[in-house]
Amino acid sequence: MKHLLLIIDGMDDEPIPAFGNLTPSYFADMPALRYMREKGTVSRRKTIPSGCIPGTEVAVLSILGHDFQSGSVSRSWFEALGAGIMVNEEDLCLRCNLISHENGIITSHSGVDISARQCSEIIDVLNANFGGEGIEFHGTRDFRCLLILRDCSANVAAYPTHTLVGRELGRLLVSSEDPLLSETLNEIIKNSRSVLADYPSNGISLWAPGRPVQFSGRTAGAVIAGVNIMKGIGRAVGMTVVDVDGATGDDRTDYSAKLYAAMKALEKFDFVLLHIEAPDEASHQKDSAKKVRILEEIDRRLLSPLLNQKINMDVTVQSDHVTSSLSGQHLDWPVEVIQYKLRNSEK
Ligand SMILES: [Zn+2]
Repeated sequence: MKHLLLIIDGMDDEPIPAFGNLTPSYFADMPALRYMREKGTVSRRKTIPSGCIPGTEVAVLSILGHDFQSGSVSRSWFEALGAGIMVNEEDLCLRCNLISHENGIITSHSGVDISARQCSEIIDVLNANFGGEGIEFHGTRDFRCLLILRDCSANVAAYPTHTLVGRELGRLLVSSEDPLLSETLNEIIKNSRSVLADYPSNGISLWAPGRPVQFSGRTAGAVIAGVNIMKGIGRAVGMTVVDVDGATGDDRTDYSAKLYAAMKALEKFDFVLLHIEAPDEASHQKDSAKKVRILEEIDRRLLSPLLNQKINMDVTVQSDHVTSSLSGQHLDWPVEVIQYKLRNSEK
């Protein structure tokens, strides 16, 4: 039987007092999801192995059944892989967020709504001012940029930027066992604020250090996602990445195009992972009302049309991890797993 795994990033949440202590996915008007809960089976599963930090990469690899050592996997390398950037074992990848700050306080981990053009301009500015000698900034379409340090054996420690919103800029400073490296990176972080002063995203942060990892097991199937981290995870475990025009990894994504691509992929593959990013971002922004709006749109534009597909397949709908829209943090709580047998084909 064909299997569609729909991962709605950070869909699960804490009970929200303003929603009568319901979580957003129970408070939102989601008739298709409710139907799948009623007609299918609902269970709770731990997706964050003990001792691991609750991140998307850890959760998704664990959902796909891959073993890895705690602390050995990092989003930055998966994102580089997903973006098609060549990374060697001697190189160190870091996530470079385009952030916003005001009066010494971090106001956003994701800048503001910068356009793809502005993002590319910012990367040019960063490379012109700080690049060269093994230091490369790489842009994506949004705030999720990357810094690749070539031939860098030292490691770097930094707090995830989304945990620092509302805190002072000093919290962005990184540390390393190589004092010259930490000094260089901290100078770049500080000086980025003057060279980016005229942009809505007026600074950067560096975090999530990572290097290439080899996975012994393979996952057969295809992955459809707007964000590079999911494409990278797919590539790392041997899946086929299907690129979809209009898959943006935010609430502007084209749900119909993603669903269409998933249905096409299921003609060829027995297993397809379809990833939706937007609810996680709304949670990081601590905007539970926006999260509800996004979930309702997902129900209307993705889940409801999915239920009308004239095929037979097993569907699993779940979060990768819980993301609290009260604290803006990922939590290691078990997630709800909804399994539904779609049987619409007469064949
Ligand atoms: Zn996630």
